[in-house]
Amino acid sequence: MTQEVIAIDGPAGSGKSTVARAVADALGWTYLDTGAMYRAITVVATRRGIDLDNASELAALAESATIALTPHVSVNGESVDDDLRTHATNVGVSVVAANEGVRRALVHQQRRWAAEQPVGTVVEGRDITTVVFPDATLKVFLTATLDERARRRGEEGAESVARRDAADASRAASPLRQADDAVVVDTTGRSVEEVVKEIIECLTSRTLN
Ligand code: C5P
Repeated sequence: MTQEVIAIDGPAGSGKSTVARAVADALGWTYLDTGAMYRAITVVATRRGIDLDNASELAALAESATIALTPHVSVNGESVDDDLRTHATNVGVSVVAANEGVRRALVHQQRRWAAEQPVGTVVEGRDITTVVFPDATLKVFLTATLDERARRRGEEGAESVARRDAADASRAASPLRQADDAVVVDTTGRSVEEVVKEIIECLTSRTLN
């Protein structure tokens, strides 16, 4: 890999998006929210009336999808921002993310995207340290108590957060797990600034050693 990558995984509400964005800003790197990609496919599949249990149709949709994340999340030019965090998407995304063909297509896009970035990139999700970038410059696993994670996810609620985590950790395709060589950071009760500082210190010591 010629590209510098900080890979961040962890359960819902562990602080991945906020921390990843802040680390990227601090370093002048770009940031990739891979959860938004799985959500985007879920929204379009639902709009098209695709049965989420129809594995091949869902995989074909992901293969033909060009997903843009900034400034708005869109799939082949169709905006999906409004439906990205609805209850239906929170439920459907667990099924979509368990589909091996969908994962193959999105992992391909994620690697290609990172390779195109001018400096380095911070990528966050569930399988980034284990599958997408196993050779990342730095691997981080974020955790926090369920209470705190549910509080951060607000409207979604503790039940949905716990259900999604269980689905993500128990699926056959690229389950959420802590990579052996990941730095584990518990974000419970800590500020974003503290966590960002710890990650950048880890990066600096890795780069120096
Ligand atoms: O990060 P976020 O909560 O938006 O992710 C939504 C869902 O997308 C997760 O619950 C998980 O099922 C899926 N996901 C995944 N692999 C990733 C990122 C997200 O399976 N790399």
